[in-house]
Amino acid sequence: MTTDYRQMWADLGIDLERHDALLGALPPIYQKAYLSQRNRPIGMQFFDFVVGDIHGIRVQELRQHAMNGGKVVATYCVFVPEEIVLAADAIPVGLCAGTQFSVPIAEEILPRNTCALIKSSFGFKLGRICPYVQTSHLIVGETTCDGKKKMFEILAEYHPVHIMEVPNKKSQSSRDLWRGEVAAFKEVIEKLTGNEVTGEGLARATKLVNERRRALQRLYNTRQARPVPISGKDALLVTQVSFYDDVARCVQQVNALCDEVEGRIAAGEGVFPADAPRILISGSPMAIPNWKLHHLLETAGAVVVCEESCTGTRAFSDLVAENGGTVQEQLRAIADRYMQIHCACFTPNDERLDDIVRLAREYQADGVVHYNLQFCHTYANEAVKVERALAEEGIPLLRIETDYSDEDAGQLRARVDAFLEMIRG
Ligand code: SF4
Ligand code: SF4
Repeated sequence: MTTDYRQMWADLGIDLERHDALLGALPPIYQKAYLSQRNRPIGMQFFDFVVGDIHGIRVQELRQHAMNGGKVVATYCVFVPEEIVLAADAIPVGLCAGTQFSVPIAEEILPRNTCALIKSSFGFKLGRICPYVQTSHLIVGETTCDGKKKMFEILAEYHPVHIMEVPNKKSQSSRDLWRGEVAAFKEVIEKLTGNEVTGEGLARATKLVNERRRALQRLYNTRQARPVPISGKDALLVTQVSFYDDVARCVQQVNALCDEVEGRIAAGEGVFPADAPRILISGSPMAIPNWKLHHLLETAGAVVVCEESCTGTRAFSDLVAENGGTVQEQLRAIADRYMQIHCACFTPNDERLDDIVRLAREYQADGVVHYNLQFCHTYANEAVKVERALAEEGIPLLRIETDYSDEDAGQLRARVDAFLEMIRG
């Protein structure tokens, strides 16, 4: 693979030496975390291929699109409405920011006491090691948290950036502000692409993105079965890949996987024993290749049954109304759907507490692990309320605060083991 794509990477301005080191580090991690799992669904082979070819075919597709005059729009947050990008015949690509590899590069400029997700994403651009960033014509940032907001200002010195203002409350005036931001985003995308966003285009894009949401929800529903037919690690990977794969292909592959996994449920087959402790993970997103916590839990005998996070239910839970109508009406429906995402950047954010309790029940979770990226103050502070809400329901909680490094692996293992022992009683 490396030989075939080298010219493309060089043309994209990639630092080939650093990039070789990055790609060289991934296969042993993937082997240990993924390929060593037993009894995986055959449908996961597609996702294995995508990871094995992570900077290959998909980048080539995006580059071909760009060579044909199309635009690529990169995002970091589930608040950026893909429907508008697709309606203008541009391609949205969710950037990953889940590797420790790019963190030290970012720390040359950013403060060290910044969350790993922010440092990892900035390091990808600064170190010129991500062909997705290099292929994109615009990065769309948001004002969800202070660290990101200020990082995007610096990132704009290296790459074209547009910032969407995500409000901090869900009051009517905040909703109106967000609707205005979504309408303004349409103008930005029209200007970038030279294409008009029409009612027809929006209806088509909305239907497509909704199909992916339905497919991912369908996959998550299978995890409510006992025994669980697919590992948490595999399900997480599917969600992670859905951020940057072609939407129609992703829908097809996820639905094919669901057919197989539903067949397993009918046959009573699982990947873990029926009595394995079932864990709901809630909190900060886990961008590819951040599989740290899932790997810890699932090699300790537990199974992760659901993720209440932006690389989980928050990415696909609600659909945009497919009522058609004028461009303005459709933009409003899009804006309203995105305001249903219960990110900790909102105050108050009690809907998220309700979601966690509801999901713990639906997925028959024996315990919840609250996952907090170090230096993420919104999720860390909200964990206080999560703890209270779960205590009222009698659901055990383990609070984990960590980063992308492996330095705390031993300590985390001991805490996870103790938590699972307590659950097993
Ligand atoms: S946690 Fe908040 S800021 Fe992060 S991706 Fe989700 S919505 Fe965006
Ligand atoms: S994990 Fe927290 S600090 Fe990091 S980017 Fe997301 S909201 Fe911001």
